[in-house]
This record gives sequence, structure tokens and C-alpha cells, in this order.
Amino acid sequence: MNDRLARCRTLLDDLGLDGVVVSEAADVRYLSGFRGDDTTLVIGRDGALICTDARYWPQVREETAGFELVEALSADLIADTAAGAASAFGAEARLGFQGTSLSHGEYRRLRRRHRGRLRDVGDRVSRLRAVKDAAEIAVMRRAGALTDEALAAVVARGLVGRREADVAWDLLAEYHRLGADGEAFSAIVASGAHGAQAHAIPGERVIAAGEMVVIDTGARVDGYCSDITRTFAAGEPGAELRRVYDVVLAAQLAGLAAVRDGAHGRRDVDAAARAVIAAAGYGEKFGHGTGHGVGLEVHEAPGLGRTRGDVLAAGMVCTVEPGIYIEGLGGVRIEDTVLVTAGGGERLTAFPKDLQDAG
Ligand code: ZN
Ligand code: ZN
Repeated sequence: MNDRLARCRTLLDDLGLDGVVVSEAADVRYLSGFRGDDTTLVIGRDGALICTDARYWPQVREETAGFELVEALSADLIADTAAGAASAFGAEARLGFQGTSLSHGEYRRLRRRHRGRLRDVGDRVSRLRAVKDAAEIAVMRRAGALTDEALAAVVARGLVGRREADVAWDLLAEYHRLGADGEAFSAIVASGAHGAQAHAIPGERVIAAGEMVVIDTGARVDGYCSDITRTFAAGEPGAELRRVYDVVLAAQLAGLAAVRDGAHGRRDVDAAARAVIAAAGYGEKFGHGTGHGVGLEVHEAPGLGRTRGDVLAAGMVCTVEPGIYIEGLGGVRIEDTVLVTAGGGERLTAFPKDLQDAG
């Protein structure tokens, strides 16, 4: 945690700030170790404050060290309390805040309480989390392996005749059985034509023989997420989807091959996967980015898409997940969570990718 605070303070120097109000829950956890919600940090050059209400005071004492607890009277008053506490860094202190997680009302209260300059730091604090340390990587390896195991157990029970929602609940039960905190996000189980919706909500639809089924799921282990998608055949799929599967698999392998320290998320990884799909004539049917960073949040830096790309660095963890979606017919997506290394990418999810009959 000390190293993390030190890096946050280097960021203050870079941005010309005296302190920063950290309200994004994943950043609060990363910088302080505190795992609850409704909590705000105020980090200055010397001091570090943690503001929360009485529900969390014992937990703060248990989970954080080196932070001074500032007691807020209620959850509604945390932003005010943090603003007031920030005056410890000087009435005219230049303060950063996280515009993406602070509500407009909270911002107005911060503005009212603090006379000094305020600056939206965007995702700069969150980006401190992008490169993982050895302990984080160990946890993410476990999250990936656990997700593989849960997916294998659920698919082994067969998919035909089950409702999509039942398959999603079965995944959650497996995560619980295997000792995960829970799921990293609500699983997507999309069968048949439903698979053409990239973020379909699993429903009452009963999976029928001959359909493709897209399953996108991930476990959360010690706070860290994994993220995998596999597309299964429930019996023999039609000729077009069979071909689409091969194209998506080739695109995913091309994207994975482009992952390495120094590669660019958009120009290298996204471009490599997208080129395979475009060459097969399905360019218009791949409407989302190729990947995203994963960590305490399932979507975080770095970006690997058409509109957002970052240079990858060893220790980052990201996904590679191209897909093709054809309305009325169905969809195919294949996704792995990958650790960026000097020489390439190391998959943290290892479930097989040859088209499996999970009828
Ligand atoms: Zn996913
Ligand atoms: Zn993903």
C-alpha cells in the first residue's frame, strides 16, 4: 500500500495538485486496502484520510493502515466530510477529484466547501492500477483457473433443454462452490438468434439442439475479476455459423499473438483481430472493441478498441474478445483474459477453444 500511495503522490506532482479526493470504490480499495463502499479517500502530499460513516468504522481500523479516519455522520455526508477534511491540506489547496464517479450533487457540495482550485483528474488515479504486482497476478491466475473450472462443470451438464437463466445461475453456484467471492459481472448466456446481441440478458429462452450458445462469464476472487467467453455448439450448427466460428477463432488468435509489452491496444491488437474478420467479409458485424483491461474492475485500463487504445506494458491484464453478430441467425465471441509479458501474452483463462459440442 505504501508503494501505491507513493505512486499516487508522484501523480499529484505530475498534475500540480496538493491532494486528490478518491471516490471510485476500486481505487479506494487499491490505495487503502478498504473493501467496503460509500467511502472516500483524501490523499495529500503528507497525509492520507479515509472518510466514511459509522457502518464502516471498525472495518476501516481492521483493513487500513496509515490512514486517518474521518468520521462522517451519514452516508449522504461523506462528500461534504471529505471536502471539509481536505482543508487539512490548506484552504487554498489545489484538489483533484474523479469526475466519473462523483455525482453532480457531490461535486457541488465539494465546490461549496472548498475554496481552492478543483480539477477533474479523469481516470489518472484509476490508471495507477493498470500494471499489476506479483500478488495481484497470483490472485488473477486463481480467478482465471477457477472460472475455467466452473465453466467446464456447467457445460458438462449439457446445454440443450436448459433455460439460459438456469445456466447463468449454475455458473454462479459453481463460483460459490469453488470459493470465489462471487461473479465478476452478470453472466451472458445467449443461444440461437439471441447470440446476435453482444450483451444479451439471459432469459426464459430454452436452448435447442443445433444452436450456438455464447457464454460470457467471470469470477471474482479476492476482489479481482476474470473474464472469458466461449461459444458452444449445442449439436451441429449450420454451415454459416460454423464458418463464422472459424473466422472469430482466427481473429482471436491473431489478437492474442499481437499482445506484448509495448504493443498498442488499438493499432496492434485491435487491428490484428479486426483485419481477420474484415478479410472474411464480416467487418460490419464486429461492432465492439477487441478488449479491455481487467483487475479490481471488469472493465478498466488499458483500452484495446477502435476508439480507445493504450500502449500495453508488462504486468497489465487485458482481454482479447472479437465477435461476429448476425441478426436473425446468432453470434460467436471468443474471449480470454491475458497477462501482458515482455515476450507476449500469457493466457489466464485456458478453457479449450476448438468448437465443442455441449449439447
Ligand atoms: Zn466477457
Ligand atoms: Zn470482456
